[in-house]
Amino acid sequence: MSLPLNVDVVIVGAGPSGLACALALAQRKVPFVIVDALSEGHNGSRAVLMQANALEALEALHPSLASELVAAGTPSAGLHTVDIFERPLFKVHMSANAPYTRYPFSLLIAQHDVERLMRTYLSRGGNDVQWKKRVTDVKETDGGRYELAFESGEKVKARYVVAADGSKSTIRTFANIRYLDPTTNAPAEPSPNDLSFVVADVLFASPLPPNIPRDALRMMIAPEGVFLTAPLKINHSTPSDTTSSNVSPDGNLFRLYIGVPTTPPSRPDAAYLQDIINARGPGSHLKDTREGKEKGVTVPKIERVLDSGRYRTRPALAERYVTRSKSGAYILLVGDAAHKHGPAGGQGMNLGICDGCAAADAISSSPLSSDSTLDAYSTARRSIAAKVIAMVENMTAVERGGSGWVPWLRVSCLGLAFRLPFVNSLIAWQVSGLVYVRPKGQAKA
Ligand SMILES: Cc1cc2nc3c(=O)[nH]c(=O)nc-3n(C[C@H](O)[C@H](O)[C@H](O)COP(=O)(O)OP(=O)(O)OC[C@H]3O[C@@H](n4cnc5c(N)ncnc54)[C@H](O)[C@@H]3O)c2cc1C
Repeated sequence: MSLPLNVDVVIVGAGPSGLACALALAQRKVPFVIVDALSEGHNGSRAVLMQANALEALEALHPSLASELVAAGTPSAGLHTVDIFERPLFKVHMSANAPYTRYPFSLLIAQHDVERLMRTYLSRGGNDVQWKKRVTDVKETDGGRYELAFESGEKVKARYVVAADGSKSTIRTFANIRYLDPTTNAPAEPSPNDLSFVVADVLFASPLPPNIPRDALRMMIAPEGVFLTAPLKINHSTPSDTTSSNVSPDGNLFRLYIGVPTTPPSRPDAAYLQDIINARGPGSHLKDTREGKEKGVTVPKIERVLDSGRYRTRPALAERYVTRSKSGAYILLVGDAAHKHGPAGGQGMNLGICDGCAAADAISSSPLSSDSTLDAYSTARRSIAAKVIAMVENMTAVERGGSGWVPWLRVSCLGLAFRLPFVNSLIAWQVSGLVYVRPKGQAKA
């Protein structure tokens, strides 16, 4: 499919943020194209948690999209944290949000399933993603347009360019917007302190040991770092050949997210992952205790690794979200192009989906969006991202584990605090992201 020579909006990047912006522009009947460098949509093993704010934002565009997402995932009413002997440390009861939202849970769903459903709704409106379209250059032109050059040799002029092209954003670089460490305001550079972790989608052999919940997310905190298990449903876009007849539809598919102190292999295999499970995964320390023996606890065995990868993260925040050319064209940053942080608390994709919807609102707010509307977008979304990054950094400190009295004191204080219902309900409201949408105590209008 070839690109138009001229269009109001080009969205660069068809991850969750770009897709949300596209769905919102389509609803407002603003002409746009959405392009991606990939040959098809698959974003690897990344997000697994969707929060109420993103579900409500998508519900506002297509109520049935939100319900299809819920049906494709597993609602986790609480986020359980346990120690290496699987004794409860603390639990965030997301169900505390029940009076105020239709989504009083964190939804366990793989990012590729979220993107697949968003693309389905976009296609229904006649707006397909244009794949294999890598932007290689952006120039200012006269007449209130940016001109984008593509690897394919094509050129497109647009009044608005939405940079939804991820944390290494090409468009952000062309726009000359710095990506800064939110604490020091210095350029965000890799550091030995960056959190290193592996993420893998694995099928565990049956029967599944009784200590691994199939309906909730569970984090084990060991001195070496976090070991998180999130049950996933097997859907059509599950990677590898899991949709073939050799895997039952309710197979033991889990997303593992494991903090590792040393550099892991780029594609962790079953042997590497099993070694970590045996050393500090579910069952590893409980199985030899009296309680473990009574409950029949064993260490789960990996039958197959469907997908795996390694990540290192450090927070970064764009110094501004909008830039304007001399002739009055605009670049707007959304999603990871504008901010990044660790995966603790499952916030990045949600923030990106809400950025995408807010960018579409700003673009479509009047026939010719003014500087003040776009500045308001930049200020509001950047300030939310800064708050989310601060929350995620606190959660990351817990996920790092470590030994000594500081980590012990930290989890002990959290254990005590979360017993207080008002603390739990404040944190649940914050994790849901609804804190940035409306005051607590209000249901959706
Ligand atoms: C291990 C891990 C776990 C995570 N867990 C969670 C979680 O549980 N919950 C959560 O909310 N978030 C989570 N996140 C964060 C989440 O994955 C990201 O925030 C999310 O993918 C951001 O979406 P995006 O659309 O902004 O960018 P991306 O998903 O990175 O998409 C960018 C797209 O732009 C395209 N692109 C790039 N350059 C170009 C170019 N020059 N031309 C054209 N196209 C281009 C890419 O091909 C890509 O498809 C996690 C992240 C990681 C790494």
